[in-house]
Amino acid sequence: MAQSLTVKAESNFNSIKMATKGTVNVQTENIFPLIKKFLYSDHEIFLRELVSNAVDATSKLKVLSAAGEAKGELGDLTVEVILDKEAGTLTVKDRGIGMTEEEIQKYINQIAFSGAEEFVNKYKGKEGAEQIIGHFGLGFYSAFMVAKQVQIRTLSFQQGAQAVQWESDGTPEFEITEIDKADRGTEIVLHMADDSLEFLEKHRVEGILEKYCKFLPVEIKFGTKSEWVDDPAGEKDEKGNVKRVEIQVDNIINNPTPAWVKAPADLTDEDYAKFYRELYPTSFEKPLFHIHLNVDYPFNLTGILYFPKLKENIEVQKNKIQLYSNQVFITDSVGEIVPEFLTLLHGVLDSPDIPLNVSRSYLQADGNVKKISAHITKKVADKLAQMFKDDRADFESKFEDLKVFIEYGMLTEDKFYEKAEKFLLLKNLDGKYQTLDEYLEKIKPLQTDKDGKTVVLYSSNFDAQHQFVEAAKERGYDVVLFDSPLSPHFISKLESKHENVSFARVDSDTLDKLIKKDDEAPSKLSDKEKETLKPIFEEVVNKDKFTIQFENMSETEPPIVITQPEFIRRMMEQQKLGGGGGMFFGAFPEMYTLAVNANHPVVGSILKKQKDNKQKLAKQLTDLAMLSQGMLKGEELTKFINRSIDLMK
Ligand code: ADP
Repeated sequence: MAQSLTVKAESNFNSIKMATKGTVNVQTENIFPLIKKFLYSDHEIFLRELVSNAVDATSKLKVLSAAGEAKGELGDLTVEVILDKEAGTLTVKDRGIGMTEEEIQKYINQIAFSGAEEFVNKYKGKEGAEQIIGHFGLGFYSAFMVAKQVQIRTLSFQQGAQAVQWESDGTPEFEITEIDKADRGTEIVLHMADDSLEFLEKHRVEGILEKYCKFLPVEIKFGTKSEWVDDPAGEKDEKGNVKRVEIQVDNIINNPTPAWVKAPADLTDEDYAKFYRELYPTSFEKPLFHIHLNVDYPFNLTGILYFPKLKENIEVQKNKIQLYSNQVFITDSVGEIVPEFLTLLHGVLDSPDIPLNVSRSYLQADGNVKKISAHITKKVADKLAQMFKDDRADFESKFEDLKVFIEYGMLTEDKFYEKAEKFLLLKNLDGKYQTLDEYLEKIKPLQTDKDGKTVVLYSSNFDAQHQFVEAAKERGYDVVLFDSPLSPHFISKLESKHENVSFARVDSDTLDKLIKKDDEAPSKLSDKEKETLKPIFEEVVNKDKFTIQFENMSETEPPIVITQPEFIRRMMEQQKLGGGGGMFFGAFPEMYTLAVNANHPVVGSILKKQKDNKQKLAKQLTDLAMLSQGMLKGEELTKFINRSIDLMK
């Protein structure tokens, strides 16, 4: 882009306006149909290319002026997009460095066309050619996707330069003429092709500018808009107030200095909040906090990432990050550039070092992209660690909203896992937040089994598993909450990282089985009594689904407890979420354990009942256990209610 600065204007003082005709040096005759077909799938991109060229030319002029190479006042540098429906033209006009005839020859005819030729030869007939973005210097020629004729009218900033016009109608032939043009800079005039008249519509053009040019670094004007102001003449109404009048002002469509290009020290929290609304005007959300990225070595990267409050349905919140290259909008799909879990964040990334001109699969393998991705992951982890360290109470108050994000990151990125384990928090029964290390330290004395494994008891819902949670509490055990959609996978991940720790949902077995101790409690029932009781229970439940087991629980625990083995439930949950060996576990049957408390007096009393009543009592007890697990439904529930009423008679 900077090459045009080295060319010096030569003999352009010719007052006789002569036309130069020529053919661009390209062997492929029919290049334009190919450009039209393959350059971009989105024809609207032509406008981004032309406006960013205009902005480049303006920025170059500013640099030259600062260096003392461009003399005189720069004047108004606003870039203008002008529609003339009657003439059928769209014009992009700048007051930048302009071009001399030689520069047109060099940068438009030769460089651009050799780029075009390279492009055509390489991608003729190939799929995916539309992903080549600006790679071969085809930016300007994208105009031919929508125009049947294009004129470049330009006057170089160089002293004594002659204004020239380049004109081409979409064949490799062009014509250069000397023209009268008093104003420095370039006008690109597109005579719209019949199939592209949509680009003469104000709303359409406004939409494109809004999408791609919203944060370009030079002001861009598109027509005018009305604004209500105090009457400049000072005229007053009956009440003596200055009248309000409607005036026309320039419609500037961009913010040339978006928050991410400013220094963090110059921005307040309100500025960041304001910028969030600028990015997502239709969102009512308030982000939790932000990270301002600013790297210039070994790659260039700026940007602001916001942490949103995550909802149940995380999919809809994904892919909101906008990617820019020097403030030119490129895409809002950054999945190839940052790790999957980071796509949950919102905000902008701006890097001229991300190759935008290559296919997506190549992008992932690109060294710079890998470095950028690792850098962002690190920054995000560091930010969270810092927040945890600086103000733990505040971090805890935000944790529920961050939980899914942190779990997602820990599950999918090992680098993130390493850092995040220090600030991952477990919330227990009493609502207290502890790190994994703190928590394990605390439960170790009571919740370590005879094999030396520390068992973390968890619940996915304290209310639904209330009975089990209470029983654990009774024993002095603690229970933590794991209620995010990712929990089943996440728990397995934690186990894989900690050899001596296992996780068990509080209702996955009786407590004696979940945390096995050496000293087994004695049983009040004899083996013979158990043998008599077993078939009675087998008759009242579905034998295929329930395994009956006698357990020596305490008298204070319920007579019957229904549990679902941790392994089976976790497999089924993981399978539902996707992943976790769906093929193998596809046919996993629903399986429960019916634990009969061998020490509960009510269980013993069954033996003393008459035959029919034995069954009735067994049924009543299993139904109660089912009820507490929310498994008693339909006809069974009605029967249970009627039986309960009978028993009260
Ligand atoms: P690129 O911008 O990627 O170099 P383009 O095909 O868009 O490729 O433009 C080719 C060259 O033409 C630019 O590098 C620049 O030197 C020149 N050019 C294009 N538009 C303008 C403009 N509005 N003002 C001055 N020079 C321009």
